[in-house]
Order: sequence, then C-alpha cells, then structure tokens
Amino acid sequence: MALHRTQVAIVGGGMVGLALACALAKAGRKVAVIERDANAGQLPEQATQRVSAINLAAQQWLTDIGAWQHLPSERLGAYQGMHVWDHDSFGEIIFNADDVDLPSLGTILENAVLTAALWQQAEQLGVTLYAGASIAAVEYHENDATIQLETGDVILAQLVVAADGARSKLREQVGTPVIHRDYQQAGVVATIRTSEPHNGIARQAFLPGGPLALLPLADPHMCSIVWSAPLLEAERLCALSEAEFNKELNVASNQCLGLLSVQSEREQFPLTMRYAQKWVYGRQVLVGDAAHTIHPLAGQGVNLGFGDAHLLAHEITELGTLNGLFDSQQLQRALRRYERARKAAAVRHIATMEGFHQLFTNRNPLVKLSRSIGLQFVNQAKPLKDYFLRQANQLD
Ligand SMILES: Cc1cc2nc3c(=O)[nH]c(=O)nc-3n(C[C@H](O)[C@H](O)[C@H](O)COP(=O)(O)OP(=O)(O)OC[C@H]3O[C@@H](n4cnc5c(N)ncnc54)[C@H](O)[C@@H]3O)c2cc1C
Repeated sequence: MALHRTQVAIVGGGMVGLALACALAKAGRKVAVIERDANAGQLPEQATQRVSAINLAAQQWLTDIGAWQHLPSERLGAYQGMHVWDHDSFGEIIFNADDVDLPSLGTILENAVLTAALWQQAEQLGVTLYAGASIAAVEYHENDATIQLETGDVILAQLVVAADGARSKLREQVGTPVIHRDYQQAGVVATIRTSEPHNGIARQAFLPGGPLALLPLADPHMCSIVWSAPLLEAERLCALSEAEFNKELNVASNQCLGLLSVQSEREQFPLTMRYAQKWVYGRQVLVGDAAHTIHPLAGQGVNLGFGDAHLLAHEITELGTLNGLFDSQQLQRALRRYERARKAAAVRHIATMEGFHQLFTNRNPLVKLSRSIGLQFVNQAKPLKDYFLRQANQLD
C-alpha cells in the first residue's frame, strides 16, 4: 500500500478533468488524476465516433495550458460557418466566421483524440496519473480527504474534484439533489461520407423528431452526425440496415451534401438535462458533466465544462498556501465564488437549450410559422447574429 499526498485530486480523466489538471499543474499546484479506464491516454489509431465542437475560446485556453499543441493536425476539422434550417419551412440562418472577423468558429475533433493530447500534457506537467483505477472509498475530514483505491493505495488530498461525468458517483455519494429532465430522446451518432465536400460548414436541420447535425471532419468528404430522435425512433434508426439508414439519412438531410453513406457503427446516447443543486460539499467540488448536462443541439456541453475548469483553476491558483496547505476558510470562499459564477453560466445555457428544444419540437402551425419568421429575422439582422456568434465563442 502506498500513500500519496496531493493538493488536488481529480476523479475522472475525461476532457474536463484533464484540462483542469493541466491548468493547475501549469500554475504549480500538486495534482493527481484518478481515471477508471485502463486505456486512458492512448491515441486511437482508427477514427472514433464521439466528437465535440470545441469553440474558439476553449481552443485558446487549451492552447494556453499547452494541450492543443499535442493534437495531430490531420484529425482536426476547423469549421468556418454554420448553416441551420427548419426542415419543414423556409426558415434558415447562416453564420460565417468572416462576418465577425474570426479565422474560424471552432474545431470538430474526436473526444478520444483530445483526451489523449490532454493526458500527454498532464504527464509532461508532472500530474500523478492513475489509469484503470477504481475507487473503494472516499472520506472527507475537516482539513483533507482520503481516497482509497481498490489496489489499497491511498491518496490524501486537500480538495477532491468530481469530474466523473453525468452519472457522477462522487456526487451521488454525498446525496446532492439533481434537477433532471429526460428529453425522451437519444442522439444517434455515426461517421458518414458525403459525395459533395462539406467546405468546413457545420450544418443542422431541425426535423419534427429532433435536430440532425452534420459536423465537418478533417477529411473534406467526411462528417460526424448527431441525429436526435425520440427513443423508439432512435432505436429503429440504429437497427436499420446500412442501405435503409442511408436512404432515410438522405431524405432527412435534404441531400445538402449530395449523397450520404454511413461509414461506421451507429451508437445512441440518451439525452438528458441534469443540474446539480449543490456543487460544493465541504472539500468536494463538481465540474463538467458531473455538475450539468445539456441537450447537444448547440454543441456546448464540453465548452461549458471547460468554462468550469478555467474558473476553478483560476480560483485555486490565486489561493495562498502555508507549507503547501490551503487556508480552509479561503478555500471555502473560493469554492463558493466558483459555484455562484458557474451555476449562473450553466442555468443560462440550460434555459437557452430548453427554449430551442421547445421551439423546434412544437408542431403547432402558428409556432412553426413564427419560428420560420424568427430564423429569417435573425438571419438578416447582423447585430443579432454577431451577438449569437460571440456568445458561442466565450468561455463562459
Ligand atoms: C451525442 C452527444 C454529442 C455531444 N456533442 C458535443 C459537442 O459537439 N460539443 C460539446 O461541447 N459537447 C458535446 N457533448 C457533450 C460532451 O460530450 C460532454 O459535455 C463532455 O464529454 C463532458 O466531459 P466530462 O469530462 O465532464 O465528462 P466525461 O466525458 O463523461 O468524462 C468523465 C470521465 O470520468 C471517468 N470516471 C467516471 N466514473 C469514475 C470513477 N468512479 N472513477 C474514476 N474515473 C471515473 C470516465 O471514465 C470518464 O473518463 C455531446 C454529448 C452527447 C451525448
């Protein structure tokens, strides 16, 4: 049995937990990351299905903490525009990076590729990394917390960060109440080939059952799709033969990129909004999906998590220490400031996604007409479009 002392122990080596670890280690803090996946940090040779749209502000911060530099350029799909339309009407909206003097609107990349880059950077910065580690018990005391691993090893930390995702065990263990909304939808995720080049445009069609997103990958003829649909419909889409699925996909996409054909397995993910009502519990604090999950229709979930990590890293870095120890009262005040600011950001995003979801799944003809007029109005009102673009590119 080994005893390891650290200032901050992060449970969960996903994108958010690792980014926080890099930011803290870069600022000189002692950090450990505990990740249950034994293959954590390995760059998958073959393309993987789960991708995220990383906005420019998050991209800049990931560069500042030294992780973006580790990404293989051949797996980065920068996108310069967004085209959103209502499948059933004339409503559409087009965003261009040029319109707001930005080089791009962000980058589409595989979650596993970004995780591998972050892992590599964390290693270089001296973070203690535990891969394939299972937690046997976590105990909180007045001045520290002990994390016992199944191996018998013990980590003694002054702060425990729960970055263990939507079904956070750490959050559950302390009985944190969570506001929960099941959209009764799943996102069907797959990689597709397009006969027309995507030209770096992210596309999204609002269908009666939910949005279909076509996210441009590094290859000009490859996209990742997220097709949100009611649960039974999503199950049906996954069970179709490739030929039948392609037929339905081509109808749903209105052949906006010519002929589309699926190139990968189809996987489905249930879509749920979650919001933890308490983010700080003594020496435990929540970040990323452990604190909130939102509908993926605006591709903001992990960007919101990076906003959490950015502010929490700042608050912890600003704290004074005596012999490496945080002052308990200062630590609590810092955690409260973090909680207040980030809860407000999460609620803003949740409310926006709820609004979009209600608006686009409403089949009332009057609502459909007003939403088409609304989309056309926003499309022609440059200041409003600029506002939406800037919002999407803030680390908040
Ligand atoms: C279909 C779909 C599409 C999406 N598209 C986008 C997008 O385009 N843009 C965007 O910004 N967001 C998107 N999101 C949201 C995004 O995927 C999440 O917000 C993001 O993955 C959250 O990262 P995280 O690090 O907080 O949590 P996770 O990615 O869930 O990572 C948690 C980590 O903790 C580990 N872990 C869990 N329990 C334990 C334990 N007990 N001990 C040790 N380790 C543990 C897990 O193995 C995992 O590595 C999408 C989500 C879905 C469902």
